[in-house]
Amino acid sequence: MIPFEMLEPKSLRDATALLDADDPTIRPLGGGTALMLMMKAGVFQPSRLVSLRSVEPRYSTITVNSDGSFNIGALAPLASLEHSADIHKHLPVITRTMQVLSNVRVRNVATIGGCLAHGDPHMDLPPVLISLGAKVRVIGPDSERTIPVADLLTGYYETQLAKNELIAELIIPPQNGKRSVYLKCTTRAAHDWPALGVAVSVAGNRDGLSEAHVVISAATERAQRVEQASALLVGPPANDKLFKDAGEAAASAVELIGDSQGSVPYKRQLVRVFVERALRQAIDGGITQ
Ligand SMILES: Cc1cc2nc3c(=O)[nH]c(=O)nc-3n(C[C@H](O)[C@H](O)[C@H](O)COP(=O)(O)OP(=O)(O)OC[C@H]3O[C@@H](n4cnc5c(N)ncnc54)[C@H](O)[C@@H]3O)c2cc1C
Repeated sequence: MIPFEMLEPKSLRDATALLDADDPTIRPLGGGTALMLMMKAGVFQPSRLVSLRSVEPRYSTITVNSDGSFNIGALAPLASLEHSADIHKHLPVITRTMQVLSNVRVRNVATIGGCLAHGDPHMDLPPVLISLGAKVRVIGPDSERTIPVADLLTGYYETQLAKNELIAELIIPPQNGKRSVYLKCTTRAAHDWPALGVAVSVAGNRDGLSEAHVVISAATERAQRVEQASALLVGPPANDKLFKDAGEAAASAVELIGDSQGSVPYKRQLVRVFVERALRQAIDGGITQ
């Protein structure tokens, strides 16, 4: 391995100053689960890694606010979300998603910031977070901005983060009784990378929905909200015909990618089936919030 510099600043703001907006060989290091694999495979050769391990402890905490919203530090390991009683109570869809996200070794080390910044369309949490309306707070050397997770992801392994910006925290708004489901379709073991991810979040009941979010991932170049299916669901009686129509609308609307996990026609059929199934589970009370 070609030598590189490794720095470990004590504050997140200091970390941004050690990055370089114009140099892609300098990268922040969260849990390192993705970066290390890329380095071992030779697809990434750093000149400098900026470890975030020693930044302020507040960036590793999970805070639930009185209105049910959450602030989750970017350095929080995925396992801390998995085992959080507050997350389990208010956002059980996240607890359940964790149980099928890779394995305990990865979840113990990978961070929420790394999970969002990596931009891999196969990751399980981004579609769930988009369906919940989550945002990230991002800081640069002299700047700060808040970006919806839906807008953070711009393409295949691409985000709108500048090379000297860091995700500082994840903000999940109160769900106010909305029901959410994430279904992961794998062609191998249940916790493996998905061929398709479908996250739905709805407000209402079988008489009609006042809000609906349908998000597709893994089979697409980035996790994305499917507007056509989401809009169709709001208003009319929420019956099985409507869910089938939403599945059909989603299958027609999204641009799918064929790969070793399945062809485009196969994945289109998966979208039809899994969107319909996720909506039925959400409405019939499978998983609340
Ligand atoms: C074998 C294996 C299987 C996996 N399977 C799954 C799976 O099925 N589903 C799933 O969802 N995930 C899975 N993962 C985890 C996932 O793909 C990533 O490895 C993980 O989420 C990255 O988190 P990290 O903290 O380790 O990021 P790192 O590897 O540290 O970094 C990843 C990227 O994010 C950048 N970065 C890190 N932190 C920040 C920050 N705070 N702000 C800005 N940029 C930052 C880095 O510079 C790098 O570009 C798997 C991982 C492995 C190794």
